[in-house]
Amino acid sequence: MVFLLTAKVFLFSSIAIANTGASLEEILKPLGGIGKADSCPYSRDTLVKYSMQWGFAPLRQYWACVMLRKNLNRDSKSSCRPNTADALATPIDKNEKNLRGTLAYLGIAPMPYRYGAGLRSNETPVVKVSVYFKGSAANRANLALIQAKMNSASRIWEAGSLKVKHTEFQFRVAESELAADFSVNLQEADTRGPYLRRWSLNWSSNTIAHELGHMMGLDDEYDNFRVSVLGRSGMPYEKLMRCDPGSIMCSSSYGAPQPHHYYAILRRRGC
Ligand SMILES: [Zn+2]
Repeated sequence: MVFLLTAKVFLFSSIAIANTGASLEEILKPLGGIGKADSCPYSRDTLVKYSMQWGFAPLRQYWACVMLRKNLNRDSKSSCRPNTADALATPIDKNEKNLRGTLAYLGIAPMPYRYGAGLRSNETPVVKVSVYFKGSAANRANLALIQAKMNSASRIWEAGSLKVKHTEFQFRVAESELAADFSVNLQEADTRGPYLRRWSLNWSSNTIAHELGHMMGLDDEYDNFRVSVLGRSGMPYEKLMRCDPGSIMCSSSYGAPQPHHYYAILRRRGC
C-alpha cells in the first residue's frame, strides 16, 4: 500500500503541467525563479545532489520551479495559470471573494483550501483565513494565545510579500463555526495535524504560518513519505527532506514564505 503510494507520488511529480496559460519560465522570471519553458532545469533528485555539494541558497531559484510545478499540478484549479503580472494585478472585480478548491495531498488525497481575498481602499490585496477552534483546550485564555500566534504568522506572511506584492494577511480566531473557513480541534498535546483537523497550543508562530499556508492552498514541500518512514534513520537532511529549508513550506522552523507562494495564493483571485 505504502509503496503503491510512492509510485503514484512519483508519477504525479514527474508529469508536466498541462500546456495552458503562462509557462513556468514566464511565471517564475518576474519572481526571481528559473524555469525552462514549461519544465524545470533540474529535477528534484539533481537539486538534492547539488544542494549537498553547495548548500541550498545558491539553488533556491531552481527549487522554486520544482515546488511551484508540484503545487500547480496538484491544484483543482491547475489549468488556471495567468502570467505573474496579471496574477498580482488588482482584479477587475473588486468584491471580496471566497476562494475554494482542493490540493492533492501527497499527489493523491484531495485536501481543501479555503480563504478570502479582497482589497484595501488603496488596492493592497488582503488575504483572510478564519479558524474556529473546538475541544476542551479551546478556552478563552488559550484562544487569546492562539490569536497572538496567528497575528505573528500574519506578520511573517506580510514581510515576505514585500519582495513580490505587498499583501495584508488577516488570520482570525472565528467566533462561530458557521462563519469560519476551517473548524479544528485545539489540543494541549503536540500533534502533526493535519492542518484541517488538529492544532496544538504548543505550535510556534512559524509552524502556524506553515499550517495557514496549507489553508491557503500550499502543499508541503518536504518529502512526506521519506520523513515519515526514514525520519529516524540518520539519512542526511538533504536526502530526507528533498526541499529548500529556506522555504516555510519545507521547514516551518527555519523557512520563510517564498515568491512562488504568493503567485500560487493570489492567482486564484482570477481563476
Ligand atoms: Zn505541512
